[in-house]
Amino acid sequence: MEISVNRLRQFISCILLFSFVQFAAAQAAEDSAPSNSSHTLLGYTSRSSATEREFEKKFQEAVVSANIRENMRRLSARPHNVGSPYDKDNAEWILARFKQWGFDAHIETFDVLFPTPKERIVELVAPTKFRAKLQEPVLSVDPTTKQTSEQLPTYNAYSADGDVTAPLVYVNYGNREDYEELDRMGISAKGAIVITRYGSGWRGIKPKVAAEHGAIGCLIYSDPRGDGFFHGDDYPTGGWRSREGVQRGSVMDTDYPGDPLTPGVGAVPGAKRLDIKDAKTITKIPVLPISYSDAQPLLAALQGPVAPQAWRGGLPITYHIGPGAARVHLKVASNWDLKPLYDVIATLKGSDPDQWVIRGNHHDAWVNGADDPISGQAPMLEEARVLGELRKQGWTPKRTIIYCAWDGEEPGLLGSVEWVETHVDELRKHAVTYINSDSSSRGYLYVGGTQDLQAVVGTVAHDINDPEKNISVFERAHLRAIMHAKDAEEKGKIRKRSDLALGDLGDGSDYTSFQDFAGISSLNVGYGGEDEGTQYHSIYDDFYWYTHFADQDFAYERALAQTGGSILLRIADADLIPFDYAPQADAIAQYESDMEKLLKDKQEEINELNTEIQEGAFNATADPHKTFVQPPIETVPPYMNFAPMKNSIETLKKSAERYSKALAKFRSATDGAISASSLEIVNADLLGVSRLFLNEKGLPERPWFKNQIYAPGAYTGYGAKPVAAVREFMDEKKWKEADAQIPMVADVIDHVSAGIDKAAADLERAVGK
Ligand SMILES: [Zn+2]
Repeated sequence: MEISVNRLRQFISCILLFSFVQFAAAQAAEDSAPSNSSHTLLGYTSRSSATEREFEKKFQEAVVSANIRENMRRLSARPHNVGSPYDKDNAEWILARFKQWGFDAHIETFDVLFPTPKERIVELVAPTKFRAKLQEPVLSVDPTTKQTSEQLPTYNAYSADGDVTAPLVYVNYGNREDYEELDRMGISAKGAIVITRYGSGWRGIKPKVAAEHGAIGCLIYSDPRGDGFFHGDDYPTGGWRSREGVQRGSVMDTDYPGDPLTPGVGAVPGAKRLDIKDAKTITKIPVLPISYSDAQPLLAALQGPVAPQAWRGGLPITYHIGPGAARVHLKVASNWDLKPLYDVIATLKGSDPDQWVIRGNHHDAWVNGADDPISGQAPMLEEARVLGELRKQGWTPKRTIIYCAWDGEEPGLLGSVEWVETHVDELRKHAVTYINSDSSSRGYLYVGGTQDLQAVVGTVAHDINDPEKNISVFERAHLRAIMHAKDAEEKGKIRKRSDLALGDLGDGSDYTSFQDFAGISSLNVGYGGEDEGTQYHSIYDDFYWYTHFADQDFAYERALAQTGGSILLRIADADLIPFDYAPQADAIAQYESDMEKLLKDKQEEINELNTEIQEGAFNATADPHKTFVQPPIETVPPYMNFAPMKNSIETLKKSAERYSKALAKFRSATDGAISASSLEIVNADLLGVSRLFLNEKGLPERPWFKNQIYAPGAYTGYGAKPVAAVREFMDEKKWKEADAQIPMVADVIDHVSAGIDKAAADLERAVGK
């Protein structure tokens, strides 16, 4: 297990207070540490480990908050959505910086479908009349809100065009479960315009599920209960969304991300493009986002039953479901043009140019986007500046480092997806890891990703200082995880860990194509949890807001640059790519047992439901003054055979353990004892392991997604759905189909085990078994 350098330093300085003799003894113990593998970094020998630690410290100290602040001011100074003049201007400015810092940099362009609004109408036509403003007001205190001519209107990109008038129905978050509840109340969304609130899942799911239930239009509003004054003072007194604030955003369907017209291939000149009418990812019905100021008169006009308690928001009205006299007119029309994307790609060549460590963050925003994405972009650029400086002083990374400033993330991960699709063959040959960041703020370190990187991330987190607490960011995140764990058993488990559990990645940012399409181990890094509000995707997400309510002194922005850059360096400079598969095997075992539990819970739940129906419980308890529709008897899910997957996971655990053992031996090996050529063989093995998670046929219902373990859910969007091939069928209650996928997943896990075994065997040979 790793011992934190910081803690070691603290330890030594404590001793110094008491006795110099003891200090000398501790120093001597540390000096003799090379033989002790616990002092050596994962994937390093004792000597290279010491050099790397010193180097990373030098890197960390050179990161300057004021530079990050200036990067943010510059990049968020004007609206910079895809296709806007300042989007291109920013890309060129970023390119010039990379060149100035000594990177080999260029802009790569793609032409993608990016609709922008031409006409938007939301009006209540009965029983009274009200026309929604659909406009976020200028605030005199906040200078960039005045740039109205450059701001994209409030809209949801990739909404279908439409002009509909229909009764209004409130559907809570608009999830599938919400419609089941509507069924119980005898209310249908068929032929209606539904109004849903933001929250509980990705926005694009709302119009998708609405259309599946026969709705002909969809409104999504920001309820203050989830996003606004319920949490704190609204802007500009506090940092929370105000009454006319609107969340823009993409509602692209989840079949595949990227340009809707070029699924699976890069949107380069001459690429074969679908007709717009054949693009599966455009919504079926028109949809618009609105503020609660615009939503309140519509909600207040609803009649019908009072909404269940869990459906009520924070507005001073009684929430009704409808339908009733309330009729709404919704019109959406967009310009359906192709727009250029400007991805900035900057390379720092390593001494081994065949292995690439890739770092990325998008630069496009919905409007000014100080938080999303510049709070990730600005520190990333500072990382690159410092690496450029160090390069000028004579350092060369072992592996090639590639920085990517993506365009078009907001509409649907366009810039990263088109780039990965274009370069997928090279990437599969060369890419070791992709490290992403996006919005970041004040608070705790959070990292998501593939768990082969969990060990290395944990060790880096021990070395980064929390700027306000003066403990390591690891310790803060670790202690918080203990406090938030659900029970004593869970707390006990976390207490014993020296790493941080990585969250699963869905498709919330630019890592998606790396992980899910190209099979590249990926990470997403950021800080958060202590900012005072959010202006997500509104005109108020700008420099004034960020510098008043997020990371005001850029201390955590500095920590993000230190963290992202140190993880990058740790991976780029290692003798052996610092993968450890034991945490990954554990995580996959957990995914499997979660599915077994899910099946068991579903069986029990449906059995109980059927019993209650037969007992007449629903009819006996329903209020006869209210409409109540008894749920239908459901088929109890059959048992599924998880055995093939369990067996393959046992093999995986053994392979992972074997590799971990060989790795421990490598770490305690004498310097120079292992030849460069035998390391090269192991590195080549390691590079290939994450590709083995792919199945070229993709997920059964979403062929673009090739990774058979890591994927977002078709009905969760941002949210991950590990082992989606099985899980999604389970969610759809297609038990037989789910069962049939298990042997295929087991096969994939077997391939991964074989890959790890090969790496273990080659490493054993290298270190001498
Ligand atoms: Zn973003």
